[in-house]
Amino acid sequence: MSNPAITIKELIKDKPLLLAGPCSAESHDQLLSTAKELSSFGVKIFRAGIWKPRTKPGGFEGVGREGLKWMAEVKELTGMLTATEVANSKHVKEALKGGIDILWIGARTTGNPFAVQEIADSLKGKNIPVFVKNPLNADPDLWVGAIERLQNSGISEVAAVHRGFSTYEKGLFRNLPQWHIPIEVKRRMPSLVMICDPSHIGGRPDLIYPLSQHALDMGFDGLMIESHIEPAVALSDKEQQITPAMLRNILKVLVVREKSDCSESLSELRREIDEMDERLLDIISKRMAISREIGRYKKENNISVLQPLRYDRLVSRRISQAAELMIDEEFIKLILEAIHEESVRQQIEIFNKE
Ligand code: PEP
Ligand code: MN
Repeated sequence: MSNPAITIKELIKDKPLLLAGPCSAESHDQLLSTAKELSSFGVKIFRAGIWKPRTKPGGFEGVGREGLKWMAEVKELTGMLTATEVANSKHVKEALKGGIDILWIGARTTGNPFAVQEIADSLKGKNIPVFVKNPLNADPDLWVGAIERLQNSGISEVAAVHRGFSTYEKGLFRNLPQWHIPIEVKRRMPSLVMICDPSHIGGRPDLIYPLSQHALDMGFDGLMIESHIEPAVALSDKEQQITPAMLRNILKVLVVREKSDCSESLSELRREIDEMDERLLDIISKRMAISREIGRYKKENNISVLQPLRYDRLVSRRISQAAELMIDEEFIKLILEAIHEESVRQQIEIFNKE
């Protein structure tokens, strides 16, 4: 049976909280040898996928139930807690029966409310920690919704995993980090524990360290990192897995930041920022009032709302000014575009209503 005493609060006493292990459990030897190495330098939670959601059919879909016996052996031999992915109630039942300590819901499942509800229902009354990965698409509502489904089923030990968002265009990252999405989820659920999975974001070993450090710098509580005894022959995600030795080196150089924010100088700086934000809002509100005034004038004189030449001049003037003030050009363009869009919207409203 799973251990009911495991709480997320307890888990985050490790700084950073770390789940490490192979993408998939592949064989008894692969699992046990990876686990022994990881445990030798202090990894306390061992992850491995038993049931693997693959994008296309025909790939390795996990070893299934048999792997649960190997996971139990890992636990027995190393004392590590074990974690695996569940995507339906059958997985939940078997994982619990097999003695798995921590569950996670994968990105493909989080985006499916039926599946999440099924998992939540089958977990009623079982107090096992559940880590919820973000859905494939950058939708904070779906992510928060999945977490709420679990909480509504009485599962209090819920945490989130940021693993990046799928895109059509493939660039540097396998999955775009879009850090503002986990930030938005944290804003809505401030006490939610959030860890980062740099393996699935980066998709490459050399991105694991910088992404992990970035996440810790931002205040993430921990990491989930894929580690395989011989990544070159891994049956899934072989491009992104690192050896336990590589993981050990990364852990040695990672810096965990203090979370406390009670220093006087920080509070003073924050007061200044708050005051400036207030002034910014006041100025934007006054600017919109003038825009509406212009809208009324345009309506009375039968002039169209959009004046492309004027807009173009406004943007170029501010961009050259931004360069002098050491403000990023793209950033200022984005702000001006947003302000302009809202001004146009308000003027059109005047055309339609007043
Ligand atoms: C995994 O952790 O191996 C996995 C399948 O992750 P994700 O759901 O983030 O793709
Ligand atoms: Mn994987």
